[in-house]
Amino acid sequence: MSALPPLKKDRTIAELPQCFSRDAALHTNEEFHSKVKTACSAQRTGVVGFSFAKVIVVGDVAAGKTSLINRFCRDSFVRNYKATIGVDFEMERFEVLGVPFSLQLWDTAGQERFKCIASTYYRGAQAIIVVFDLSNTASLDHARQWLEESMEENDPSSILLFLVGAKKDLSSPSLLAQMEHDAIRLSGEIRAEYWAVSALSGEGVRELFARVASLTFEANVLAELERSGSRRAGDIIRITSTSDGEHVKSRRRAADCC
Ligand code: GDP
Repeated sequence: MSALPPLKKDRTIAELPQCFSRDAALHTNEEFHSKVKTACSAQRTGVVGFSFAKVIVVGDVAAGKTSLINRFCRDSFVRNYKATIGVDFEMERFEVLGVPFSLQLWDTAGQERFKCIASTYYRGAQAIIVVFDLSNTASLDHARQWLEESMEENDPSSILLFLVGAKKDLSSPSLLAQMEHDAIRLSGEIRAEYWAVSALSGEGVRELFARVASLTFEANVLAELERSGSRRAGDIIRITSTSDGEHVKSRRRAADCC
């Protein structure tokens, strides 16, 4: 089986990437949680998180979802590009605090045109990115509806929300200021982290996904630590790698545990 290509430099995360706006952030800590850092540095026998997070991207037709994903995954911008219907997700690899971790990025593949996205698309997400168009106020008005629909299949207490204004390059300064004001207010109401990006110029795109990867990783490790705390002493959680590069979690019980 062929080896995986080397990880791109910007996919190796050693420090917590900072939020876009302190007024609309999931948290404003400067560093990864100390428990997470300790767990990752003690990888030899330590407790580490799941190997990937499912991230769904929702929003109005033409809000800029596919372009955002393409800019991040392929570092390209193609006007009116549409992926083949049926392509479900992209797997993007990172290494966070020395631990392999991937984002499974789900694009709607045009399903949102029919306003009935399949529940399998929504189910099991750890992060939801609601995209709106910074040059189109109606798309922000619809953001709450997209969020509510996608939350129906998920546990609101454990999901991380990102409200992302796309096409920053297209918005006039006055419209941008007004829309950012409204978006930051909405972010506070729905407990989302606000970002403004441009798939055309690439502004903010890598930073956004690095933040998504870091916060989902951190949440996974903290949840895993909590779960393992209630297991019998001697249980060990390990990250193992299969030969095709998929990282799976395995649990082993110490043989001499009483
Ligand atoms: P989707 O339906 O939400 O996936 O939207 P698309 O990604 O297909 O984008 C819709 C249209 O907006 C396309 O014509 C894109 O070329 C354009 N677009 C997307 N992102 C940007 C951006 O950052 N800047 C500009 N100027 N146009 C964009």
